[in-house]
Amino acid sequence: MKFSNGQYFRTALFSSAAAGLMRLADHWLTNRATWGWDFVSRKSGRRQNASRTRTAATIALIPCALLGVIGSAAETPKAPPVYFNWAFESGSIGQIDKLGENEFRLHVVGQQDARGRNRQATWYYFRMENVGGRTLTLHFADFLGEYNDVPATRPPVGASYRPWFSEDNVHWNHVNDIGWDREKGEATITLRPQSNTIWVAHVAPYTHGRLLRLLDEVGRSPHAYIEVIGKSALGRDLHLVTITDPAKPDAEKKVVWLMARQHPWETGTSFIMEGALRFLISDDPLAQKLRGETIFKLMPMMNPDGVARGDCRFNVNGYDTNRGWDVVDLRDKQWLEKTPEIWYVKTRILAEHARHPIAIMVNLHTDESNEYFESMVDAQPEQGRLDRLYAALAEKTLFDPSRPKISLVGTGPMNTTASLWREARVPVVTMERRITTSKKLGRVAMPEDNLQLGRELISTMAEIAQ
Ligand SMILES: [Zn+2]
Repeated sequence: MKFSNGQYFRTALFSSAAAGLMRLADHWLTNRATWGWDFVSRKSGRRQNASRTRTAATIALIPCALLGVIGSAAETPKAPPVYFNWAFESGSIGQIDKLGENEFRLHVVGQQDARGRNRQATWYYFRMENVGGRTLTLHFADFLGEYNDVPATRPPVGASYRPWFSEDNVHWNHVNDIGWDREKGEATITLRPQSNTIWVAHVAPYTHGRLLRLLDEVGRSPHAYIEVIGKSALGRDLHLVTITDPAKPDAEKKVVWLMARQHPWETGTSFIMEGALRFLISDDPLAQKLRGETIFKLMPMMNPDGVARGDCRFNVNGYDTNRGWDVVDLRDKQWLEKTPEIWYVKTRILAEHARHPIAIMVNLHTDESNEYFESMVDAQPEQGRLDRLYAALAEKTLFDPSRPKISLVGTGPMNTTASLWREARVPVVTMERRITTSKKLGRVAMPEDNLQLGRELISTMAEIAQ
């Protein structure tokens, strides 16, 4: 028989009460029988009569005890309440309204910038306990925010949005559909977990801890060199991985850069990054060839504090690590205090580009429903190179663009892409990957798909760079 924890506890309690009653009865009967034996022995000297009396009386009491056990099982025990926990790496959820034993409204925390603007609310990740065998109804609320200082009129998610869940915090899947209330801006899902604990997240998580374990592996490759190029605002390492064939002279190689996780909620970019890293250190003949002609620079997590803390977008001081790159003056140390992530990474990119020009740089991001390239690169030969990259990815890989060509932006926020091109002619594109259904796949991209896209992306970048 399978019990929930509470059922098991209550039945065990009744069982032990019944067993206690049996022991008490036996003790009483033993004493009574002893008197009986004394009495009998004095009268007749037949000791075994007393023993027989005790056994018979004990057997007579068993049905009463059994009735107690059956009674406890027949009574419907009250299940223990559902517990929520988000006190773990990348964990986050806001206010929880209990609407019933199995129904909850969950408010997304969101995060604002240093000025209290640009709230973004696209991250939650929590654990639920005592849920086995229940039918859970979860309403997600408070997605509404602001983007580039313009308050949003509708939430960034909608009817095509799919929350994710896991029964082991390792293997993740998304729900197949949601109920979307346009008026309230609320997503409602139903879960019927088999196991007693489940994890639920906005998209499949990719933690800072997972990156550190990956870097341990990557660092053992003879082709990889990992540097700490600076520290985040809370003192976490900012890693830069260089992968190339050290036996071939660097002067003849092209340089490509790949960067991810400026925004903590955009976990898909980390799966793409992991796919790229694993491919580049592999024995795959293509990887071997590309290492001989390319210097790969990979910056896997630019906002490690945000990822570890379960933040949505900004660094701990409220600065967007993909905004204001033009404002961050490397001679002014206030920026080293406010946004050291930009300060260190910008310093390194400009130094590397001056020494050995970067042929292609891709800055990875995630979008709710669109997949595209955006750039300010408007001169040859760099623009042609990026156009060829876009066409090759659209034709041959899991990149599934929702626009016909690279979106060329002349104005807009001075993000990494815009600032590096304007300031130093670094040919950068922002690559957005959607979290909703991919047309190419006919479904939502799974972590495995993004690992594959990582291999495809980094090899195509190296091939186009030649
Ligand atoms: Zn982003």
